[in-house]
Amino acid sequence: MDKSVIKFNHCHKDIFCFFVPDQCPECGVSFSGKRLEEAPVSIPNPFSNGHKVPCAFLVASTEDNVLRDFDGRSDLHTGITNTNGIVYNYTKAGVQREHQGWERCICVPLVQPDMFSLMSQWDQYLEKFSSAQMWDPLWQSFNEETHNCYSYTLTFINCVLATQSKRALSKDEFTQSFVLPRIKRASKYMMLCREISQNHFYIVDSPRRNSQESPSEDEDSKSN
Ligand SMILES: [Zn+2]
Repeated sequence: MDKSVIKFNHCHKDIFCFFVPDQCPECGVSFSGKRLEEAPVSIPNPFSNGHKVPCAFLVASTEDNVLRDFDGRSDLHTGITNTNGIVYNYTKAGVQREHQGWERCICVPLVQPDMFSLMSQWDQYLEKFSSAQMWDPLWQSFNEETHNCYSYTLTFINCVLATQSKRALSKDEFTQSFVLPRIKRASKYMMLCREISQNHFYIVDSPRRNSQESPSEDEDSKSN
């Protein structure tokens, strides 16, 4: 499991770490017996076990640590869970129904908890959709660019939207509004974990405090 990342603020820095240290890694002030001005906040872990999230869209990296290289299709695999956490995903060999292997992924729930009628038909929809000729390798073959795991999941989501009389999402809309923001958050989280594992801390200027300060000591920096 991932360790949980926390963030606290000191001397105008945001300091990310796994544990609050005894002293500030930036200015050296001791924290013993003192309270931080603001309580540390925990950074939510963007990954969860896809098999435990029913009726969801999942994004998994085919290897660990490749999420940061996400460009919309490569190195990532997408799937849809049924109500029992079985992950339906489309590969060169056709639609797979997997009971394991999606324990660490980005999960986007697709059904609100009060959508009982949709939920009760979900497994049937998913099974019927997945049995269509479109996803049968004998009828139509997998194509890295145009007929892949992403087309499978998005086409299914659009079929579900149609049953709810909602308009279909284009690939770009879906990627921009649902997928990319989560991928970015996941990439950042992985970067934080990597940095903290190597250096104990990841320290950046605290954006809200520095924005109004005048750079009085940096007047010469323009000439450099
Ligand atoms: Zn400090």
